[in-house]
Amino acid sequence: MIKEFRTLSGKKYPFPIFFPDATQAVVKTLDSIDVANSMTPGVLVNTYHLFRELGQAPIKKFGGVRTFMNWNGAVISDSGGFQVMSIIKSGSGKGKVNDVGITLYTSKKKKILLTPEKSIEFQIKLKTDLIVVLDDFTPPTASFDEAKDTVERTLKWAKRCRSTYDKFYTLGEGPYLIGVVQGGKYQDLRKYCVQQLVEIGFDGLGYGGWPITESGDFDYTSAETIAACAPENYLLYGLGVGKPDEIVKLYKMGFQIFDCVLPTRDARHERLYVYEADNINNINLNQEKFYKFYVPSKQKNYLLDEPVSSACDCLLCKNYSKAYLAHLFRINEISAMRLASIHNLRFYSILMEKLRENK
Ligand SMILES: [Zn+2]
Repeated sequence: MIKEFRTLSGKKYPFPIFFPDATQAVVKTLDSIDVANSMTPGVLVNTYHLFRELGQAPIKKFGGVRTFMNWNGAVISDSGGFQVMSIIKSGSGKGKVNDVGITLYTSKKKKILLTPEKSIEFQIKLKTDLIVVLDDFTPPTASFDEAKDTVERTLKWAKRCRSTYDKFYTLGEGPYLIGVVQGGKYQDLRKYCVQQLVEIGFDGLGYGGWPITESGDFDYTSAETIAACAPENYLLYGLGVGKPDEIVKLYKMGFQIFDCVLPTRDARHERLYVYEADNINNINLNQEKFYKFYVPSKQKNYLLDEPVSSACDCLLCKNYSKAYLAHLFRINEISAMRLASIHNLRFYSILMEKLRENK
């Protein structure tokens, strides 16, 4: 079992590791120093958004996205496929998916074609420490045959991604290359997808697709299938996972890498994560409900001269009262979102520390 995440510059971070979203090379409302001070070891940048909004010139000029954003930690990227697929499959944008790649029509005359080759080449230019293959998303409502088609295309694309990667690096020496397991709720397909991806050869596997079942529960069964079928020396990545309790469960199955928009998005919407403990040492992840949400602008908080959490040592909790944060949210001050984002990121970095201690 691999114990540490290594960066291209040789830095190492112990697992588990959580990457918040720095979609466009920025964690919203924060700068890179704020993120580092929340003890967050790495961030995820989004290939599709950077490809479309930033382009290649600044990346080339700065020698990668890490130096561009003056970030010293780890940085990983996604394939860009999930965003483009979501736009097309949700009907909010026009496009098509075929064996060539994913085409998105951005206006009557303009289109973006994302191919497996382009996705890998752009991620390599970004100089991220972990890159993800382009995959064909299995919708949660897919029939077996539809799901099988997405798996077959995912495998075809995975081969092309691996070939592209091989032009730049030897597997095991460059950035981690992650294959994505599709197949939806069909465990035979998930198993088949894992076996075929391992045949092609990757550094690790990602839990692909939408991890929520039609009844609205987290699909732990598929995560278990992937973990059970993956070779010992493979990294396991919970793509887009997730809520603190989901992370705890997946980590116990063997997943080590996580990323999610939730801590920062929730922070901007006044949802702060708070441990059910009076100090950091007394946090107990085995408690059934080990955390709760705190909403600052509720009227009763306006006069409270106490920190948001006594089980947190972030910039907000160490320096400001609930009353002050409530005031900042009430007047729609950007500092409110910044302080809340820093707090939620620290909640997640404490979560990683506690999971490490638990093992
Ligand atoms: Zn805090």
